[in-house]
Amino acid sequence: MHKIDMHTHILPERLPDFADKFGYGDFIHLDHHRTGFARMMKGQTFFREIASNCWDPQVRIGEYLHYRTPVQVVCTIPVMFSYWAKPADCLDLSRFLNDHLAGIVEDFPEHYIALGTIPMQDTDLAIEELNRLHELGFPGIQIGSNVNQLNLNEPQFFPIFEACQTLNMAVFVHPWEMMGQEKMPKYWLPWLVGMPAETSRSICSLLFGGVMERLPKLRFCFAHAGGSFLTTIGRVQHGFDCRPDLVAVDNKMPPRHYLGKFWVDSATHDPQLLRYILDVAGEDKVCLGTDYPFPLGDLEIGKFIEEMKLPEPTLEKIFYKNTLDWLYG
Ligand SMILES: [Zn+2]
Repeated sequence: MHKIDMHTHILPERLPDFADKFGYGDFIHLDHHRTGFARMMKGQTFFREIASNCWDPQVRIGEYLHYRTPVQVVCTIPVMFSYWAKPADCLDLSRFLNDHLAGIVEDFPEHYIALGTIPMQDTDLAIEELNRLHELGFPGIQIGSNVNQLNLNEPQFFPIFEACQTLNMAVFVHPWEMMGQEKMPKYWLPWLVGMPAETSRSICSLLFGGVMERLPKLRFCFAHAGGSFLTTIGRVQHGFDCRPDLVAVDNKMPPRHYLGKFWVDSATHDPQLLRYILDVAGEDKVCLGTDYPFPLGDLEIGKFIEEMKLPEPTLEKIFYKNTLDWLYG
């Protein structure tokens, strides 16, 4: 069966010294300290070690062959968003990353589809780069779950989403800059607790803020099966019902109205939970997405889904049809 993994991350093997170029800031740089491995450094601080499958398209294609998955949707690593930087510098960095992504798609058109990154902190520059991505043939973008702690329903982001809808570009929302992370550095809590909450924050903001209501043709997909949103939908709906004075202030439509109107990936590591997600989000809205090549990802590329004994038509939807619907409409 044809398979597309719609949630994977990639970096150029070599990054310019952006801190030196711009004269400030803890931009990510790579320290290739031994063959096949590099340390991602945020200024002088060690962020993460990556291996060649984070930058070498051929290595990745080989690893995916093992799981009979020919196509990967690639986007940058959220730490590269750099929404904190000066807008013009973030545009410069985004263009560099996007040109690299475009090159991979050009070199391996049968294996790669790319989602671009844009300087969300500046509406005009974000739309400028969005237009360029559209001309380059990108089907969509990846954005953070918040932008410098501003929620995605803030008015300054609306023209960007409006442009996405006009250009028929899909939007992948990925958790980053997790709220409260400085209060819980131990036990990897920013990743285990912060990320699912952060994704729910983005969905609730777009939904209660009326963005989804005002842009009904805009196709959002949320990482990690929507974080904690779908598992807390009962609470979210009840909150809307019992305290409309707090919740239903900008959009009168109830949260459950939007179930089946946005996409989520399958990265749950849990067949029972995935069955629930298929039930609640709808089997037309769940896409194979793994978070490869990182350790929290589903690195057997959907093997647990193949073992769930789902009907063939459902599997086809999860493995590629839903992703094509999300990306191309
Ligand atoms: Zn990811």
